Amino acid sequence: MSMELVARDVWLEYGAGRGTGTVALEAIDLTVREGEFVTIVGPSGCGKSSFLNLVAGFLVPTRGTLLLDGAPIRGPGADRGFVFQEHALFPWMTVERNVGYGPRTNGQPKAEVDRRVAELLELVGLTRFAKAWPKQLSGGMKQRVAIARALANRPKMLLMDEPFAALDAQTRRFLQDELLRIWSRTGTTILFITHSIDESVLLSDRIAVMTARPGRIKEIIEPGLPRPRDENGTAFVETRRRVAAALQSEVAASLSQQEAAE
Ligand code: ADP
Repeated sequence: MSMELVARDVWLEYGAGRGTGTVALEAIDLTVREGEFVTIVGPSGCGKSSFLNLVAGFLVPTRGTLLLDGAPIRGPGADRGFVFQEHALFPWMTVERNVGYGPRTNGQPKAEVDRRVAELLELVGLTRFAKAWPKQLSGGMKQRVAIARALANRPKMLLMDEPFAALDAQTRRFLQDELLRIWSRTGTTILFITHSIDESVLLSDRIAVMTARPGRIKEIIEPGLPRPRDENGTAFVETRRRVAAALQSEVAASLSQQEAAE
């Protein structure tokens, strides 16, 4: 059986049934294939995080179907790892305790947990920092720990909600390459939200562009470029232009929605 995410006619309305609900997502159809790297771009408030939260199982769709690996998503599970914008590390645990949190709470034997933690710290290049505390790490290192922790349970899918948005430009660029390296080594399917057009073109196999709220999938753009990608190459620039063109009217619509709400 193929391991993939299938969203069919997924709707989400906040406050549904109370008369004044907000329709955040409208008829989302999206398939993410096994091993694929898909990014979602869209204007602020269009429902990107809401969609990721549905896939994570933190929210339930008002209507429609969400299948992972052929089975309906019924809640959070170890088959999906989540990485947020702000590193959500436990400040009272060392790096190695943070990374081992998932397997430990799943009751795996200590030797197994230790082996997995060592493997993951090596993968994200932080072996030397196993005993460090989160507050001793830079923002980029914290995000690498967060990625290692999200991978600890060997999830089928990594859900990433603007994981690099709070980092400075150089660190962000470095982590984008790191993530591509980790992705090619682990083969994990990745669903990634970003505001950055460049980031979406640099990283993904396919880019899903969303409309202003209520969020729908407006267009799916497939860069089809070999990796590593040349950000100054003609094909890259052309793909960036296509994504920007698809987004432009949606960002304008989103801004006028916000003005109307004020
Ligand atoms: P994005 O991630 O694209 O910025 P969100 O998914 O966070 O968008 O939000 C989509 C829409 O749903 C926004 O209009 C937001 O105000 C609304 N929304 C988000 N969370 C809630 C909530 N818990 N209750 C009501 N409305 C919400």
